[in-house]
Amino acid sequence: MTSQSIFSEFDGSSPSVSLPELSARLLQEQASSWPQLAKGIASLDTVKIREVPCDGFSVILQFNPGRIVSTGAKVDAKSIRGRPCFLCAGNLPPEQKGILAFREFLVLCNPAPIFRGHYTITHVDHIPQAIEPFAHSFLQLAHDLGPDFTVFYNGPRCGASAPDHMHFQASPSGAIPVERDAVDERRRKVLKKVKDVTILTLENYGRNLILLESPHRHGLEEVFLNLLQSLRARSGVKEEPMINILCSFRNEAWRMILFPRTKHRPDVFFKEGEQRVMVSPAAVDIGGLIITPREKDFLGLTAGMIEGIFREVSVDAGTIREIVGSS
Ligand SMILES: [Zn+2]
Repeated sequence: MTSQSIFSEFDGSSPSVSLPELSARLLQEQASSWPQLAKGIASLDTVKIREVPCDGFSVILQFNPGRIVSTGAKVDAKSIRGRPCFLCAGNLPPEQKGILAFREFLVLCNPAPIFRGHYTITHVDHIPQAIEPFAHSFLQLAHDLGPDFTVFYNGPRCGASAPDHMHFQASPSGAIPVERDAVDERRRKVLKKVKDVTILTLENYGRNLILLESPHRHGLEEVFLNLLQSLRARSGVKEEPMINILCSFRNEAWRMILFPRTKHRPDVFFKEGEQRVMVSPAAVDIGGLIITPREKDFLGLTAGMIEGIFREVSVDAGTIREIVGSS
């Protein structure tokens, strides 16, 4: 880490300058000094949006050609080893700067944004993407970014375009449809209460998920880690279970939205020619904002195709009941 990459520092001890305030300042500075980011932000003026009502839920499609690199990213081990890591501080573009948070994470502006105010939060070291060692940081970042942000995580086998470098992302609060649906009383079903943590799911939602809600960080972290262990045991693999997670802190409580997955990309992603559908679901997409870098997919995706993709890449309801029951 060179001091050249540091825009400002945040350690939580100076209450006069909050992390959201620093993040807003960073975005403003970077948009004026870094042409690639300015171009990325300007491209949001021309992205097209289309809402697709599905069975029991609806999604928003975003036609965003700037995301082709991320959606189409080769994330196999050989491709990853063969490229310089774009999240390592030493490889950042010279104009890119970040907020050093707790001397452990660097809050950076994402130059290919999906949102106005889209941040990538990278670990200062080149260490593998893994949530267990950083569950604490996840909750801390959501807390410090506050109610106007959602922090999200994509597992290394499940949507992270840099599975070799630990990172989170942050989006403006409410930009991902599941955030709204998660508070819809008609959908919410409490499965269990453990200590101060309420474990819920959403019914009739086209994909199966787990919500964790708690005002207490330690209990929440413990329940979350136990659930991951149960998922790992059930999936029978040593690696981290495939998962996408959103986390927010509002009204003095955390909410985590867990999407356990069975696969990263649907079969149609790998088809040739006309049959190919370039949808590569990560946290944002499975949360209901599907990014389509090609216009063909933006126009052609039907409710039936979306329902099929969600079913194909998500765990079934029985798996949710089983892992919640055993944790
Ligand atoms: Zn790296």
